[in-house]
Amino acid sequence: MEERQEAANFIEAEINKDIANNVYENGRVLTRFPPEPNGYLHIGHVKSICLNFGLGEKYHGETNVRFDDTNPAKEEVEYVNSILEDIKWLGFKWKEPVHYASDYFPQLYEFACKLIRMGLAYVDDQTSEEIHDTRGDFLHPGKESPWRNRSVEENLQLFQEMKNGKYKDGEKVLRAKIDMSAPNVVMRDPVIYRILHSTHHRTGNTWCIYPLYDFAHPLSDAIEGITQSICTLEFEERRPLYNWCLQAFDGKEKPRQIEFARLNVTTMITSKRKLRKMVESGVVSGWDDPRMPTISGIRRRGYTPESLRRFCELIGVAKADNVVDISFLEYCIREDLKTKAPRIMTVIDPVKVVLTNYPEDKMEYVTIENNPEQETMGTRQVPFGRIIYIEREDFMETPVKKFFRMTPGKEVRLKGAYIVHCDELIKDEKGKLKEIHCTVDFDTRSGTPGADRKVKGTLHWVYADTAVDVAVRLYDYLISPDDVDDGRDFMEKVNTDSLVVMNGKAEPVIKEYDVGSRFQFLRKGYFIIDKDSTKKQIVCNRIVGLRDTWAKLQKIMGKGNG
Ligand code: ATP
Ligand code: MG
Repeated sequence: MEERQEAANFIEAEINKDIANNVYENGRVLTRFPPEPNGYLHIGHVKSICLNFGLGEKYHGETNVRFDDTNPAKEEVEYVNSILEDIKWLGFKWKEPVHYASDYFPQLYEFACKLIRMGLAYVDDQTSEEIHDTRGDFLHPGKESPWRNRSVEENLQLFQEMKNGKYKDGEKVLRAKIDMSAPNVVMRDPVIYRILHSTHHRTGNTWCIYPLYDFAHPLSDAIEGITQSICTLEFEERRPLYNWCLQAFDGKEKPRQIEFARLNVTTMITSKRKLRKMVESGVVSGWDDPRMPTISGIRRRGYTPESLRRFCELIGVAKADNVVDISFLEYCIREDLKTKAPRIMTVIDPVKVVLTNYPEDKMEYVTIENNPEQETMGTRQVPFGRIIYIEREDFMETPVKKFFRMTPGKEVRLKGAYIVHCDELIKDEKGKLKEIHCTVDFDTRSGTPGADRKVKGTLHWVYADTAVDVAVRLYDYLISPDDVDDGRDFMEKVNTDSLVVMNGKAEPVIKEYDVGSRFQFLRKGYFIIDKDSTKKQIVCNRIVGLRDTWAKLQKIMGKGNG
């Protein structure tokens, strides 16, 4: 390929070098995304997916999906399906077919035999404790196994017997014969095959020996013809083992491993194991609870694939561990929806307002723009009449300084309609505010010359007669943005008060939208219609509020956005 690509990060710089050095034929690029199907994917995987598939696209190459299903006990089909759905939703296409490490069990077995024949692997009879205890540590070399110098013939026979089911779980393992005093502990004769009499979700009972990840991974990459095998930083010390295992592979073009830093985001837990614990303990409603940092949770919360891809693009690829502030992700979805999402009025904590001088039998329509930042989205007709709802927090009986919303004796504008004067409060026996009585200044209708009269506050409102009931879900973070590691278990830190449901009132246009539609509720944030909606009631999730804490943060730190 002649076309030169400018490197946006160090991984691209490495790929450019491979192309320049003709490491792979015609500068081909084939990356892979290799999830273990033991849970739902999370925001960290979004990063890995965007990186791997992004490189495939940028270099006119392709990307494989390979399920790392080398552990028969843990994997489930439910997870396989959810993972594929997530990748598709993010907008990426893998190279068909979908791969499974288990597809290669026969070849991996042959590779292991080959290592034995090369004198590079042996069957060890030691127990896992003995193997563990003789590994040594950073300061002390390991101790060689008494079985380390078995003949090739004996090793081949024993390994075959392991495969044929002659031995019980843990009775024997196959180990790489490398160096028990290697400074890198990973290289001290790692186990590469173990016996597990357990049923695999794809291969059934065909196998009772299973390869370990460290062995299966590089060789699966090699079999598929992967070029750059991109993984997270914790695998850096295992790279020598990755390359060592490739000795069993005869092909001309061998994959190479490149590491990058994991993505961490404040408030978000990025471990499938911990997320599973949250699901199983019931602190959330499931893997797709809109508070969850899983892709399915984030999707249901209302994030767009575009916003997630943009997020990954903007945070870039680093070689040092870091934590991204959640407000940056929120900034990305706001930016995406700003011009895409129509705006409608919904009062999420309603208080009734009676416009006492407005005729009881009259109703009119006022014209309101659908998105002031996107003129092409046009306008709509919104019903208006004598009884309306406003937001409880938009009223204050004794206003604090600089409160320009509704307050007794003062005027405010009702968005798109009239200026009204607040005359009187009606309270119940307990003194709780029941309704507010106002009078309309009919000369101030929006769109007429009288509308020029200025008042400080403009409120959103919903006309009572045509209002639509909406259950409005407001979310807090599951983990505090200020969380620090104080030794407590994460389950103790999960915010169980992170969901509040309000009975809101929306303008009738909301009925024209389907599940999955997103809008801005004027002054209240971005929302999506949730799948829990029924014919009787619409349910909306707040995706994000309107206040841009990221921009604020940037101002404080004296930086621009992005
Ligand atoms: P978990 O601990 O959540 O199970 P994992 O790394 O074990 O994560 P895998 O299914 O093995 O999950 O991961 C698939 C790919 O996603 C791997 O290449 C892994 O490096 C990458 N990945 C996982 N977590 C992150 C993260 N936080 N940031 C970036 N990449 C990640
Ligand atoms: Mg894993």
